[in-house]
Amino acid sequence: MDKIEHIGIAVKDLETSNKLFEKLFGAPHYKIEEVASEGVRTSFFKTGPNKIELLEAIKEDSPIAKFIERKGEGVHHIAFAVEDIEQEIERLKGEGFTVLNEKPKKGADNKLVVFLHPKTTNGVLVELCQEISTNEG
Ligand code: ZN
Repeated sequence: MDKIEHIGIAVKDLETSNKLFEKLFGAPHYKIEEVASEGVRTSFFKTGPNKIELLEAIKEDSPIAKFIERKGEGVHHIAFAVEDIEQEIERLKGEGFTVLNEKPKKGADNKLVVFLHPKTTNGVLVELCQEISTNEG
């Protein structure tokens, strides 16, 4: 596993939170992206070398909607960059971690992603993400 790729924060209202985090970081978000399959709209901020992702639910059964219902707004997941996501999934399963989606899926920001069940990671939702190579023409 490589560096922390980003930290995900669940918010109720993306517009409101974009303004808040813009004040906090002293810089605006640099992109907004909808991931329809996950039922979320996301925005991204850069703080130095770090990246923060805000996530807003766009439908009621979205995992973000459920998270906010249970825990309120706040830190939702920590994402780590990996070079070979399939290999890392196999390794982590071998170590006894539960992978939430067996097949990596397309996440925001041009990434293949999988999540580990927080029950097996001391309550922390861990995301693994691999950059999708863009040299396919
Ligand atoms: Zn994420």
